[in-house]
This record gives sequence, C-alpha cells and structure tokens, in this order.
Amino acid sequence: MTTESFEVNKLFEKWIQDGNTKLDEKDLVIQLKSYLESQHPEICGKCTPCRDGVVKIEKLLDKYVDGTATLKTLTELEELTYNLRSSRCSVGLDIGKNMEVILENNYNVLYQPVKKY
Ligand code: SF4
Repeated sequence: MTTESFEVNKLFEKWIQDGNTKLDEKDLVIQLKSYLESQHPEICGKCTPCRDGVVKIEKLLDKYVDGTATLKTLTELEELTYNLRSSRCSVGLDIGKNMEVILENNYNVLYQPVKKY
C-alpha cells in the first residue's frame, strides 16, 4: 500500500499503478478543497455534473471543516462524485476519478466524523 503526500490531482494517476494508493489523512479535506478550487478556471459551465457538482461538493466539504457534516453530507458527496462520471469532458471526469479514489481509499476520513456510534 502506498500512502504519501500526493497532490490530489495526481491521485488517479498513482492509483492506476497501485490500487491501494491513498492520501495522507492529515488535512485531507483542506487538500481536497484546495484542489477543487484550483480547477475553477478549467470549468467551462457546459454541463451540470461538473459546473454545479463541484460547487456543491465544496459546500459539503465546508461542513466537514466547520464540524456540521452528517451521514447525509457523506451520502450527497458520494452521489455528486459519481455524477461526475457523466461529465462531458476530461475536466469533470478527472475531478470525479480523483474524488473516487479518495472515497475508495480514504473513506474513513470522511466517515469517522459522521458515524453514529
Ligand atoms: S466537464 Fe467539461 S464540459 Fe462539463 S462543465 Fe466541466 S469543463 Fe465544461
């Protein structure tokens, strides 16, 4: 298993070589928010999953930052991530692929704060 301080935008690329690749847990949500913000200039607005989805994902991540995230927050995060599969170009698709690696291999970071037991 590989756990290093990869940039989020390189995550899917690394995951192809090692399916267990995951990000350092420390500041993961902040890293993710920073990555999504860096993608704003690339988002042209032609399709909903990317144009609206990325903004919604960022708002959900804000809930983790301010401590108001719930299980519903995580469920919505998963749905919006999977919706990115229907993006019209590689911008949205790549964001979705990187997000999916996080949901697959860093799930506990998003689940622990919202679990009910
Ligand atoms: S996925 Fe591509 S086409 Fe769709 S909004 Fe993003 S940049 Fe535009």
